[in-house]
Amino acid sequence: MKRVGIIGGGAAGMTAAIAAAGNGAQVTLFERTAKLGKKILSTGNGRCNLANDYLAENCFHGRHPEFALQVIRHFGLKETLDFFEHIGIHPIKNSEGYYYPRSMQAASVAKALIRELERLKVKVVDETGNLRVRPHGDSFQINCEKGSFAVDSLILACGGQAAPQTGSDGSGYALAAGLGLKVIPAVPALVPLTSPWKGFKELSGIRTAGRITLYAGERKIASEAGELQLCDYGLSGIPVFQISGFAARLLTENKKTVLEAEINFMEEFSNGEVKQYLYHQIRQRGAVRCGDFLTGLLPEKLGLQLFKRIGVSYDLPAGRLSDRQIGELIREMTAFRVPITGNLGFDRAQVCSGGVDTAQIDPTTMEVKRIPGLFVAGELLDIDGICGGYNLQFAWSSGYLAGRGAAQ
Ligand SMILES: Cc1cc2nc3c(=O)[nH]c(=O)nc-3n(C[C@H](O)[C@H](O)[C@H](O)COP(=O)(O)OP(=O)(O)OC[C@H]3O[C@@H](n4cnc5c(N)ncnc54)[C@H](O)[C@@H]3O)c2cc1C
Repeated sequence: MKRVGIIGGGAAGMTAAIAAAGNGAQVTLFERTAKLGKKILSTGNGRCNLANDYLAENCFHGRHPEFALQVIRHFGLKETLDFFEHIGIHPIKNSEGYYYPRSMQAASVAKALIRELERLKVKVVDETGNLRVRPHGDSFQINCEKGSFAVDSLILACGGQAAPQTGSDGSGYALAAGLGLKVIPAVPALVPLTSPWKGFKELSGIRTAGRITLYAGERKIASEAGELQLCDYGLSGIPVFQISGFAARLLTENKKTVLEAEINFMEEFSNGEVKQYLYHQIRQRGAVRCGDFLTGLLPEKLGLQLFKRIGVSYDLPAGRLSDRQIGELIREMTAFRVPITGNLGFDRAQVCSGGVDTAQIDPTTMEVKRIPGLFVAGELLDIDGICGGYNLQFAWSSGYLAGRGAAQ
């Protein structure tokens, strides 16, 4: 019977263990914490957004983003939904195509995976302490505080470095590098962005619709629309998360990079329509002071801040605004620029960008091409998905293929 060792008891590692044991292997799962699947509990705000109907290459980032779909092609949405039905989780889809367990409880997903591991008699070695691994002839030797183990195939599924409070502390990168794998340095992704602009202190707590576009100098890097959250440190919300990996990578690779976020608070209107609307309002309500003029159109504190930024007194009647000031106001409403100098770090990131270079991996089995018997799955790889269930989908898909591949 083939002996398979899996390092990391998260989404990818547990799926790999189930697939390997289901394919007849004798499986040992090593987990550094006392609890399997801890990160799953916090996914999707405690509800676990486990997959998405829409799958395209631009849902993933990495040095080779096409690798994600090559993997998912071999264990895709249908196989994932069947896998969950098989272990007692009934996934349902919301109107935007996001899948959740019908229970709407992430804990139910973690529990179902653990129950399946028990049913398949997977041996779990937890609280491993500082685990070491080395090739030993045709097999691998794993040493940890709980003992010494020899396995025929080894799967690395240690996750990245995001949310280390859930167990993934980045030690997987060192394990992979120690086995001779090329690792692209990780940066936080799906993370709030920080800005030194002082005005954010007064805007903290505002949630408003808008489009955020990231610029490095005048080079447009990425753009996303949705609900923005203005915070005392800078910006958060799903559109900010989606572009955050680009910002983190640029700022890490070149400390001199000057990044700016441009926000259009009037996304659904053209600039011409905004201009027309403002002049119409000024004709109708010219006596209203500027401090009250935008109330009802934008969150009140934001409206005040826009007038402050163009140096107009709140007490000035709107009808006394000059054409130049109206032009500046339109610019602030549609192309509001702030510097971006960092992010809230791995502690507040949902995933990592970077990891084991996927050029080394066979996407049909997750086996390292030049090291037979060694497999890599999940977020430890240089693939990160956008918000919407893509990171878990990649964890289930790559985990399943690795488990099946390792057992064969
Ligand atoms: C707050 C939050 C919300 C999220 N929401 C979603 C969502 O709704 N949908 C979605 O698709 N994605 C979401 N994600 C991302 C998703 O959870 C991860 O991408 C996914 O869990 C990665 O799975 P993994 O198994 O590769 O890694 P992990 O889940 O991180 O598991 C790795 C495991 O390996 C263990 N480990 C690490 N190093 C070692 C070692 N040296 N020895 C032994 N064990 C080790 C860790 O303790 C951990 O248990 C969210 C992430 C966070 C933080």
